[in-house]
Amino acid sequence: MGAKIIDGREFAAEVRGKVKDHVTRLASEHSIVPGLAVVLVGQDPASQVYVRSKGKATVEAGMKSVEHKLAADTSERELLALIDQLNNDPSIHGILVQLPLPEQMNEDLVVNAIEPAKDVDGFHISNVGLLGTGRKSMVPCTPLGCLMMLRDHHGSLSGLDAVIIGRSNIVGRPMAQLLIGDSCTVTVAHSRTRDLPEVVRRADVVVAAVGRPAIVQADWIKPGATVIDVGINKVEAPERGEGKTRLAGDVDFEPASRVAGAITPVPGGVGPMTIACLLANTLTACCRSNDIPEPVGLTA
Ligand code: NAD
Repeated sequence: MGAKIIDGREFAAEVRGKVKDHVTRLASEHSIVPGLAVVLVGQDPASQVYVRSKGKATVEAGMKSVEHKLAADTSERELLALIDQLNNDPSIHGILVQLPLPEQMNEDLVVNAIEPAKDVDGFHISNVGLLGTGRKSMVPCTPLGCLMMLRDHHGSLSGLDAVIIGRSNIVGRPMAQLLIGDSCTVTVAHSRTRDLPEVVRRADVVVAAVGRPAIVQADWIKPGATVIDVGINKVEAPERGEGKTRLAGDVDFEPASRVAGAITPVPGGVGPMTIACLLANTLTACCRSNDIPEPVGLTA
């Protein structure tokens, strides 16, 4: 029997719908509109696309969207001044500085200048520490999206063996903290892991966040396991014509979907959840800052 395909587009639409409902209620009951400020420095084409779609999704959810586009040669001091202004703006509940930043900027310094309560990316060192010690924090969007999909599929994750492949600060490490928080037995594998296939074979839950197309083979997957594929890789697609490409995940999808119990596709799996979780985080930040109970099911 083939795996259940976890439809990230459908699930993300559901999450966005819930966010929108809460936003409507916040407006009618408290006259509050959550606000998200996105800061883009420079002209990186991929970043421009991300920023545009984040702004559009924010407005669609009924929230206020503010975009600050700064020239590539902006000084770090100017950027820090803008962040300070946004930190002190009561109409802004979430601040996101699109990464990567130009060379003249120290990314750590910039990210850590954001007020932790407004840090909707969850990258501020205070939020990293809070998450790492099992406390309430702002949680990075991509692993939060993976967690939501896993909870939705399994109900309880308690006692499951989870293997995360990748130890980045954006995906692998926070994913590990979230799954520990949900009482999984967590293994974090990485580029130096010995016998990766054997490690993955133990897992009831596999989260692949490597950035190498089809690295995870079907015969690494325990029959019935849930596979969350975070990887986004551009691969050649000669079947689409000369020089054409397509997106592929870290998992060899077709054969793996004949072994797994459930699996996310690429595209259409984790990707759409990331923006949905950014909206959820903005709403959560807004509720926390106004001492309003935060929405159930939209946080870790
Ligand atoms: P990264 O490059 O920071 O980290 C990759 C990790 O993979 C590292 O920890 C490394 O140790 C590990 N790794 C590398 N080669 C390995 C190997 N041969 N065996 C085992 N582990 C190996 O990447 P990242 O930022 O964590 O992103 C990972 C992937 O997820 C990328 O494809 C990225 O595009 C994608 N991504 C997707 C979303 C989304 O919204 N869906 C968000 C963030 C990242």
